[in-house]
Amino acid sequence: NQSEEKLIEYMDELEFLALTAGATIDKRFTQKLTQADSKTFIGSGKAQEIKEYVKDKGIGTMIFDDELSPSQLKNLEREMEVKILDRTNLILDIFAQRAETSYARTQVELAQYQYLLPRLSKMWSHLDKQKGGIGMRGPGETEIETDRRIIRDRISLLKEKLKTIDKQMATQRQNRGKMVRVALVGYTNVGKSTLMNAISKSDVFAENKLFATLDTTVRKVVIGNLPFLLTDTVGFIRKLPTQLVESFKSTLDEVREADLLIHVVDISHESFEDHINSVNQTLMEIDAHQKPMIMVFNKIDAFAYEKKEEDDLTPETRKNISLDEWKKTWMSKSQFPTVFISALNKENFPEMKKMIYDEVLKIHTARFPYND
Ligand code: GDP
Repeated sequence: NQSEEKLIEYMDELEFLALTAGATIDKRFTQKLTQADSKTFIGSGKAQEIKEYVKDKGIGTMIFDDELSPSQLKNLEREMEVKILDRTNLILDIFAQRAETSYARTQVELAQYQYLLPRLSKMWSHLDKQKGGIGMRGPGETEIETDRRIIRDRISLLKEKLKTIDKQMATQRQNRGKMVRVALVGYTNVGKSTLMNAISKSDVFAENKLFATLDTTVRKVVIGNLPFLLTDTVGFIRKLPTQLVESFKSTLDEVREADLLIHVVDISHESFEDHINSVNQTLMEIDAHQKPMIMVFNKIDAFAYEKKEEDDLTPETRKNISLDEWKKTWMSKSQFPTVFISALNKENFPEMKKMIYDEVLKIHTARFPYND
């Protein structure tokens, strides 16, 4: 069943995110609803079941795969008596842990406050009622208003700070001159940093976790006497919190201002086609979808294939489509130069490099028509 498979993949991804954030996972719960409950997101029967389990096992946190509305968050926290995280909060937490430059830290802090603001009074009022008693009373309305004002001021301040850094970064980008700019884009964990290292012989941090790349890295690369700038960008992800899309403006500017995009895909991942769509969607949102692009299908070494039965009664599934079949499909349907590689083993690297060289040369020649 397709939707069931999707559900498992989504939960796998959420679990991976939670692990990246440092959590250990005890159990998954899923529920089929045509529409999320407006008050508690999940149905009351399910809520009861989970509540008992959580209490029994002494679980401290529940994580939801969607963004909860402020009131859903409040209601669930009151009902479950444990810490409730939603997808947005979890992703913000990972970004916060991994922000290295002051720019990235400022962006994440801004996104966190923007997430917090509409949820502020809800959180307080729930603490107020739940804990009660002397000394444990939550702040009254006036205090919430004060807190709101403090946060609003902080938000304006952070926005100002970002504006200043944005300007500096724009100048920096301008100062890089007219050299051709190439940006690696792709879903998170597809191997962008690994590829960056392999192409530029640099040492960018790569690990099997989501969002290892938070700050952009720019390297000068030379292929066959042709120099260009290569940028590693933040990994795109399904349902990226809107607060982050907005605040990572400069990171995305690297993509927006690139002359050529290298779209890296993890072909060994079952939902790689969904990932391609997510990335294309984001490119569309930032108006970068009409740039020249090279499709690089990575991790061919990890591609798993279950051979079809000879009588061919087995339905065609993702797993029994061979790498050659995928190649044929993508080579014919992609409007862009397309190559299949392993960044790990450097398989098909000459072919990929030639492809990058040809594309960069086209742009370079158009830009400097009178040079030889
Ligand atoms: P990024 O998030 O897109 O920058 O991905 P990374 O470069 O950090 O790589 C994510 C994980 O995939 C790491 O564990 C890499 O070692 C692994 N990886 C990258 N390229 C390949 C490849 O060609 N084959 C295999 N098997 N693993 C790879």
